Amino acid sequence: MSDCIFCKIVRGEIPCRKVYEDDELFAFHDIHPVAPVHFMLIPKLHLASLQEVNGSHAVLLGKMLVLAAQLATEQGLDDGFRTVINTGRGGGQEVFHLHIHIIGGGHISPMVRRE
Ligand code: AMP
Ligand code: ZN
Repeated sequence: MSDCIFCKIVRGEIPCRKVYEDDELFAFHDIHPVAPVHFMLIPKLHLASLQEVNGSHAVLLGKMLVLAAQLATEQGLDDGFRTVINTGRGGGQEVFHLHIHIIGGGHISPMVRRE
C-alpha cells in the first residue's frame, strides 16, 4: 500500500527507531509511547486489521506472537508486558496496518476498571 504509513516505515521512507526486522516481520518503537517500553510489531505484508486475516495468515500470526514475547524480553520486560491489537474503528484503531502494541516497564493499569 503506497500511502500506508507503516508500509512506508518498512520501506525506509519514514524514519523509525527499529527494534527488529526479518523477511516477514518488522518492529519499531511507538512515536507516542504510553509506557517506558512501547513498540509495535507488524507484518511486512499490508493487512489493514485483524478483521482482514484468514486461515492463510495463521502461521504469520503465530510467528508474530512468538516474536512479541522474544522481543519483549530483549527489551527488558522480564516481569511481563501487555499486548494490544486495536481492530477497526470500533476497536480504536488509528493506523490501518495490522500491528501488535507491546507495552511495559512501568505501571500497567487494569484493562477494565471495576467500580
Ligand atoms: P492504533 O490506535 O492501534 O492504530 O495505534 C497506532 C499507533 O501508531 C499509535 O500508538 C501511534 O502513536 C503510532 N504511530 C503513528 N505514527 C507513527 C510513526 N510514524 N512511528 C511510530 N509510531 C507511530
Ligand atoms: Zn501498510
